[in-house]
Amino acid sequence: MTISRRKFLVLSLCSATSVVVASEARAEEPILAESDEQARRLGYREVATSVDRKQFPAYVPGQDCKSCSLFQASTDDKWGDCLLFSGKRVAAAGWCSSYSTM
Ligand code: SF4
Repeated sequence: MTISRRKFLVLSLCSATSVVVASEARAEEPILAESDEQARRLGYREVATSVDRKQFPAYVPGQDCKSCSLFQASTDDKWGDCLLFSGKRVAAAGWCSSYSTM
């Protein structure tokens, strides 16, 4: 199958536009608040070093959201999506007790 040069350019432009629109939509997602009920249950903190280590002894210094397998980085290097907190962005420097490297 061959496509015309014009069709190729139109498809490429549409594809690039879709990526930009998706990135902008993600950037507008709200940020997960530490006071969110699920976030509190899981001990989520925007700054991993502020984790209550008595309450969450599983925390190991050096762990953070950006190294968690559930973290999905975005174009913003400070915030990203987490598979546990759909529709809200978490801090790359954050942590919760569901931290996973698998
Ligand atoms: S599951 Fe991972 S990425 Fe999500 S909030 Fe917890 S530590 Fe961060």
